[in-house]
Amino acid sequence: DQPISDVEQEAEQPGAAAGGPPTAEVVEHWVGGAATRGSSSRTAEVFDPATGEVARHVVLAEPDDVDAAVAAAREALPRWRDTSLARRTAVLFRFRELLNARAPELAAIITAEHGKVLSDAAGEVARGQEVVEFACGMPHLLKGGYTENASTNVDVHSLRQPLGVVGIISPFNFPAMVPMWFFPVAIAAGNTVVLKPSEKDPSAALWVARLWQEAGLPDGVFNVLQGDKVAVDGLLTHPDVASISFVGSTPVARYVYETGTAHGKRVQALGGAKNHMVVLPDADLDLAADAAVNAGFGSAGERCMAVSALVAVGGVGDELVAKIAERARAIRTGDGRRSCDMGPLVTRAHRDKVASYVDVAREAGAEVVVDGRGVEPDADGEGFFLGPTLLDRVPTTSRAYTEEIFGPVLSVLRVGSYTDAVEMVNGSPYGNGVAIFTNDGGAARRFAHEVTVGMIGVNVPVPVPMAYYSFGGWKHSLFGDSHAHGTEGVHFFTRGKVVTTRWSDPSATQAHGGIDLGFPTNA
Ligand code: NAD
Repeated sequence: DQPISDVEQEAEQPGAAAGGPPTAEVVEHWVGGAATRGSSSRTAEVFDPATGEVARHVVLAEPDDVDAAVAAAREALPRWRDTSLARRTAVLFRFRELLNARAPELAAIITAEHGKVLSDAAGEVARGQEVVEFACGMPHLLKGGYTENASTNVDVHSLRQPLGVVGIISPFNFPAMVPMWFFPVAIAAGNTVVLKPSEKDPSAALWVARLWQEAGLPDGVFNVLQGDKVAVDGLLTHPDVASISFVGSTPVARYVYETGTAHGKRVQALGGAKNHMVVLPDADLDLAADAAVNAGFGSAGERCMAVSALVAVGGVGDELVAKIAERARAIRTGDGRRSCDMGPLVTRAHRDKVASYVDVAREAGAEVVVDGRGVEPDADGEGFFLGPTLLDRVPTTSRAYTEEIFGPVLSVLRVGSYTDAVEMVNGSPYGNGVAIFTNDGGAARRFAHEVTVGMIGVNVPVPVPMAYYSFGGWKHSLFGDSHAHGTEGVHFFTRGKVVTTRWSDPSATQAHGGIDLGFPTNA
């Protein structure tokens, strides 16, 4: 991990330029129900990663813009918080219907700025929508408990209330789904939101803001603040922001957690990952090879649940590597709007960094089985492509293993036994996802019990929990103690109260308790 001091030095975001663009389209903030340029003259370039061209620019907030977005959310809060659950969920249902009808528009926006293929972008929207559907059940989720006659004539009930203005800070790799892990739950629970999306693909958030307006959400309940570290720091330190839900790389997640909590906020900060897929000797190797390819190269490996370390146990290595190599070579890489399997990486700088791990691994003694650097993509222009890359016998000391690469690079590690595999998984500082491929139910059950990882797949390579469970990793993959969505999400976005009530029966001729300065006990 990078130390925090390095994180602070990264304030200069790639593509940031003073002065702003003369002509190109500018992606703006969304504050109080309207798009606004705000007060900042700073902008960043937004690329079409498949062609390598600058498609538009995005404004980068200054502290004044943070204040304006938070003020809009704060102003909208009392009315929205006090809007009945029936009315709030009616808005959620309308949002769900609109999103369902217009999902392809959002998928096209994601592909244009992120690069992932259209079918993958549609899948991202569908997974986000599951959280919207979960949040439509908020009246049930917010029900408290009630105890009659806890003490004589005394009843107790519990309730949960919204936090207030909540901040959401999201990464580039899921510009629609990751914000949707949080805002449907936050809004349905009666909070108002400031979303700070990634400056690399900022348009999806703006599209979503317009959809909320169409669904009848009052202005100011959902705001979008475009920006970089300045915007993030503004939210982390703002006295009117009650909580922060962050998803991104581990060094920034730790910084966000430490800074946000130091400023009195409730923080959930989901970080990076290095997900292992363990293949036992009795596994179906064709199933395992398909899974490794799908989970390693889907979305060009830019998924926090991507498999990046394949652990071949016993003698399965040679056959498994041959099967994966054959499949990897057949993958069509190109523009996500064409019928390709895999799109580009998000920026040129990121592509170059990912590609550099091929030499890093080779120098450490790994074998480069498939080298994606020579790929000939089906695309026009100078897109940010790297083909599927397969590295075998990667030493665990190599940076290709110890670092999160976040690209289409799959490293194979060979171990002698099940115990060695578990030791390797548990030795990783990350603990987001892990998978085991086996036909031995007892081994799978033991594995799920003893790995120090938050999300586990048995013959499932990308075990993303359904919306009604909670998403989150262990160790350096999550700072804080609340995972996203599911009941943990509802808990995160609400605060509990317990009310103790005494009403005497009016028909009874009871004596009052009289004076007693002792500590109240139950009777
Ligand atoms: P990132 O950490 O660079 O950026 C995430 C957010 O933080 C963005 O909104 C960005 O503007 C902001 N940011 C960036 N640098 C900052 C700084 N120095 N100070 C304050 N804010 C800063 O992450 P990314 O490259 O956009 O996304 C990829 C990372 O996200 C990967 O590490 C991936 O594993 C992780 N991720 C994790 C999960 C999960 O559930 N654990 C899910 C998706 C992505």
